Amino acid sequence: MATALEKKIKGMDCLHWVNGKYVPSISGKTFPNINPATEEVIGTVAWGGTEEVNEAVAAAKKALKGEWGKMPLRKRSAILRKIGDLILERKDELAMLETLDTGKPLWMSKSIDIERAAFNFHFFADYMIGIQDEAFHQDDIAIHYTKRKPLGVVGLINPWNLPLLLMTWKLAPALAAGNTVVMKPSEVTPMTATALAEITKEAGVPDGVVNLVNGFGEAGAALSQNPDVAGIAFTGETVTGSAIMKASAPTLKKLSFELGGKNPNVIFADADLEDAVETTIRSSFQNQGEVCLCGSRIYVERPIYDEFVERLASKTRELKVGDPLDDSSTMGSIVSEEHYNKVMGYLNLAKEEGGTFVTGGGRAEHMEKGFFIEPTIITGLGDNARCVREEIFGPVVTIQPFGTEEEVLEKVNDTTYGLSATVWTTNLKKAHRFAGQIEAGIVWINTWFLRDLRTPFGGMKRSGIGREGGHHSFEFYTETTNITVKL
Ligand code: NAD
Repeated sequence: MATALEKKIKGMDCLHWVNGKYVPSISGKTFPNINPATEEVIGTVAWGGTEEVNEAVAAAKKALKGEWGKMPLRKRSAILRKIGDLILERKDELAMLETLDTGKPLWMSKSIDIERAAFNFHFFADYMIGIQDEAFHQDDIAIHYTKRKPLGVVGLINPWNLPLLLMTWKLAPALAAGNTVVMKPSEVTPMTATALAEITKEAGVPDGVVNLVNGFGEAGAALSQNPDVAGIAFTGETVTGSAIMKASAPTLKKLSFELGGKNPNVIFADADLEDAVETTIRSSFQNQGEVCLCGSRIYVERPIYDEFVERLASKTRELKVGDPLDDSSTMGSIVSEEHYNKVMGYLNLAKEEGGTFVTGGGRAEHMEKGFFIEPTIITGLGDNARCVREEIFGPVVTIQPFGTEEEVLEKVNDTTYGLSATVWTTNLKKAHRFAGQIEAGIVWINTWFLRDLRTPFGGMKRSGIGREGGHHSFEFYTETTNITVKL
């Protein structure tokens, strides 16, 4: 039965946010927003392109010179804290919007996405106070010191899997460092970012500092090309990262990229098996497997291979794919019809490649409407199978056996990606030795998804450029001047 909040919130129409106001597209064009769990239209989205982006960038450029640029650090920090507070005050509403947009379980939106969105602001509100500059005495000749300045107008382009969490992960440090921004949320999940815009105003952010343009890739491309945009912080697919890099090249923008991954999850025979199975359930299927950090390539040492597969399969069968508004659902729907078709395409491919479905393998047939896929474990694929090499970004994992540490290390690193990895072993020496040789930005030992926002987050190879988190975020969102005083 629908609760009062569900009755009240059935979605919303998403406009752009420019200079402190919601505005439609200049052409008046919109496109429908669809709830992937019901296939119903839940609102319209303003369709922005170059003109809307240029207006938003002009507003952001003007705001750099206004009150924001002169605001004392403590006041800016208090505004950030207030944004976090307001997100928590509106947690139920924002969680509902996130679930209607993405199809993820409502309990997950509340306990992970919205909580973390608020914490992103609370964290950077504190962290910004302690950011230090450098100073050097050069004998008795000179003193050198550095002064940090905001980068300028920054474009924040985001994907659909963790919409508010990822937007705030960029917006909070961008504002903490004194920048003005134009946000471009995914066309698939525009609602929480659109709501966030007015929250920033309510918290005291001056008009023009935060702007948002809704729309498709063309809006992101317009941001990448605009000469007044100093930097682009992008999270999304590797191919889109390449397109942004190309479009930004003529104006030499600073770029921060968090891209795709095909992350290994290595389970040695001496692992705590119960712990490894429990956590592998999450690292495989959390958020319908639509997490860039999911460990979708599982390698298990031969002596425990059969037992691990059996135990993981048995736990996977306990997962409940269902209505995202039902608290007993562990998994919801895939984010869109387009993405559902992509994941289903990989499942067909797995069959052609000779894989065996230990669990799942297709649509969750008990759901009449919506884009629901069963959690799927595939065995029997070789190292060159496309399902082992390519990012599927859905509830699909492959499991392969391995013999030695050397052999599995080679498999782990034999990829163009390098985002994250997980290693399970109770042998401390082996854990450190192995983790240190993995070509990935983040390696977890005997855990997964455990984050401390002071630590560097990002990928190597084609999984990203740069790191976010703690002072790494400030390195990206600021420019430094070195000032030399002759004594
Ligand atoms: P996507 O690249 O298709 O879209 C991301 C954003 O880029 C959207 O807002 C989209 O409109 C915009 N865009 C599309 N074409 C553009 C262009 N030419 N120029 C500028 N912007 C453009 O990604 P997606 O399908 O929304 O998200 C899934 C991907 O995101 C996966 O590959 C996943 O691994 C990755 N991801 C990475 C991380 C990370 O931290 N590394 C986190 C979450 C998701």
